[in-house]
Amino acid sequence: MSIILAIILAGVLGILTGSIVNATVLRTKAGLPLMSRARCWSCVEPIHWFDLIPVLSYFVLKGRCRRCSAAIEWQYPAVELAMGLLFALFAARVVLGLGIPSFITGTETGILFVRDAVVAVFLVIIFLYDFRFSVIPDKFSIPAIILVILFNALLGASAFSMLLGGLSLGGFFAIQYLVSQGRWVGGGDIRMGLLMGFLLGLPMGIVALFLSYVIGALGGVLLLAGGHRSTTSHVPFGTFMAGATVITMVFGPWLLNTYLALLQ
Ligand SMILES: [Zn+2]
Repeated sequence: MSIILAIILAGVLGILTGSIVNATVLRTKAGLPLMSRARCWSCVEPIHWFDLIPVLSYFVLKGRCRRCSAAIEWQYPAVELAMGLLFALFAARVVLGLGIPSFITGTETGILFVRDAVVAVFLVIIFLYDFRFSVIPDKFSIPAIILVILFNALLGASAFSMLLGGLSLGGFFAIQYLVSQGRWVGGGDIRMGLLMGFLLGLPMGIVALFLSYVIGALGGVLLLAGGHRSTTSHVPFGTFMAGATVITMVFGPWLLNTYLALLQ
């Protein structure tokens, strides 16, 4: 299979997966079963299959329900496109052999793609959920931690390096939690720290943590400037951590090298 075709197929798979991510986030919040017929959130009518084509249907319908003309959230095509891009990047990394974690020596790059795709699904769900609803549900973060440990073990990561990463980043938030008696960070942040550390190890975990704060600072300014949040409202730090982790999964080695080069 040609390299280009593999990347395009991964992108299409990502777009389709993005639809599942959107449905998971909104149905979980609404308390609806995950496997149910898609309905308009406004008129509650079932949506025809031809109006459920990822990305395309949104633009064909001009962002409105065919029946009641209620606006369809732009989250739908945005997440579908973002997931498509992510899966394409994960595939490109594997087929081109760029920035592969050092513990992967042989032919496990197919497993690496599956790991990245599965973990990205959880991270994007957490990104959206915390951004929209200001909470990181354990039902997403805990399975993600377990899957990361299983995948990394399968890929040959050493238990020591995983523990070092997980305990360093999880500990970073756990200490803040204890010192502030839960006022500065929440339990969800500790679990996100564990997830980042077990997934990325060191030093990439530190890169992701640093990036979380950079994105958090920029994001906070943008949210305030856009009038979406006040200075006293919840900062969706889980959103920034999930975003930083995804970016580090793809660009981590390049970011670290660029940063180190700047210091010299
Ligand atoms: Zn409708």
